[in-house]
Amino acid sequence: MSSSELKRQVIIAGAGPIGLTAALALRHKGIPATILEAEREGRPRPGSRAIYLHNATLQHLEDIHPGLGFTLARHGIVWPLKRSLFRGKEVYVKKYPTPDPSVLPPFTSLPQDEAERHMYQACLDAGVEFVWNTPVKEVQSSEQGVKVITETGDVWQADYVVAADGAHSVVRKTAGLKLEGPRHKDTFIVVDVKEDPENPLPLERIFHYQHPAIGERNVLYVPFAGHWRIDLQLLSGDDPEEFGSTEGVKKWLPKVIDKKYAERITWVSTYQFYQVVADSFTDAHRRILLTGEAAHLFAPFGARGMNSGVPDAVIAVRGIAEALQAADPETAKKAILAAAEERKIAAEHNRKGAGIALDHLQGDSPFMNMKRELAASLVPILPQLGRWLDEGPYGPKFGPPELTTKY
Ligand SMILES: Cc1cc2nc3c(=O)[nH]c(=O)nc-3n(C[C@H](O)[C@H](O)[C@H](O)COP(=O)(O)OP(=O)(O)OC[C@H]3O[C@@H](n4cnc5c(N)ncnc54)[C@H](O)[C@@H]3O)c2cc1C
Repeated sequence: MSSSELKRQVIIAGAGPIGLTAALALRHKGIPATILEAEREGRPRPGSRAIYLHNATLQHLEDIHPGLGFTLARHGIVWPLKRSLFRGKEVYVKKYPTPDPSVLPPFTSLPQDEAERHMYQACLDAGVEFVWNTPVKEVQSSEQGVKVITETGDVWQADYVVAADGAHSVVRKTAGLKLEGPRHKDTFIVVDVKEDPENPLPLERIFHYQHPAIGERNVLYVPFAGHWRIDLQLLSGDDPEEFGSTEGVKKWLPKVIDKKYAERITWVSTYQFYQVVADSFTDAHRRILLTGEAAHLFAPFGARGMNSGVPDAVIAVRGIAEALQAADPETAKKAILAAAEERKIAAEHNRKGAGIALDHLQGDSPFMNMKRELAASLVPILPQLGRWLDEGPYGPKFGPPELTTKY
């Protein structure tokens, strides 16, 4: 492309779910959207990753592209039952009513790559411009805008840039921003298996504290459209390779689920989760906004990754739309800063929530061990303690604090 063609009001780096959301939010406001994506069109995406989308996420997507929230809900599942067990004994069970298809469900569960396919189609319908095979190499921001230099040698100019280029974000790094926070010490093995359509298991989410069939390790089972996710939490001292290699998984999986699933594995991954948030969600010139994994990484308990990336993108676009219409540069900067601060507060809240969930499930302090043991033993007389045990995989449900600065 000639350099005269390389000017855009807004450029988004990355066509993952958060870049696609930012593009849809821009189009919803009548602003042109251009995505620069490192990889090729139709690229395979890594595993199923986000399988659980909250109602609020579906509502955001429905708001910015009418029909999209319902499309995702229709292609996902809502499990009608959840249970928690403690060393083989049931401590909590909850049934959900059948969702009314005329309203968005409380959540939907489907593979991330499938959700992304629907979001991509929505972007095509909304007239989003995609520039594939174009990795961003560097961004240079100034009071006037942002220069985006790509690995292909092009130089793009934009008034604003949305960084949605994932955990290793080049935009974040070259804008001088950094992720801060720890990496959790425990290792988790995430295994996805294909359901057997001839003889499926009943749809239920099960959390099994200290599963007796696998050396008292925690096991989480989550059904999602056509699949199951089985999440094994290793004990300190376990060898991740022993449990996380394909051969290792084939050895332990039949101990916790029907052995046929060992032949139906679609994805295995070993994680030590980060709990990190960017030091700032915008640059000094207020021209770049970080969103999604470019801005934060959490342990997946509570499903806070994509579910918080979607509002990052929506609020980033709200800030950019205000900035584009601002009467003067100071007002524009304030709009960008307000969006950045709102989402940084949310990210810190989510990191804390994911941390509380990790401690609830796996924390090995004498206090936490005693709390779990006591709760499990007292469930027959105090059933609400079963609910507390069941909340482990989610962390606290309340949202981030309300901001005083509304705009
Ligand atoms: C095991 C696991 C389970 C999870 N479960 C859930 C869940 O149930 N619910 C939930 O909400 N979240 C979940 N998550 C988190 C969720 O997967 C992420 O939050 C989500 O994928 C982040 O999207 P993103 O668009 O920010 O980044 P990505 O999905 O990483 O997309 C980034 C995009 O940017 C592109 N890119 C990279 N570098 C460049 C560059 N230099 N220039 C241009 N493009 C670039 C990449 O090719 C990619 O297309 C889970 C994650 C894991 C690992």
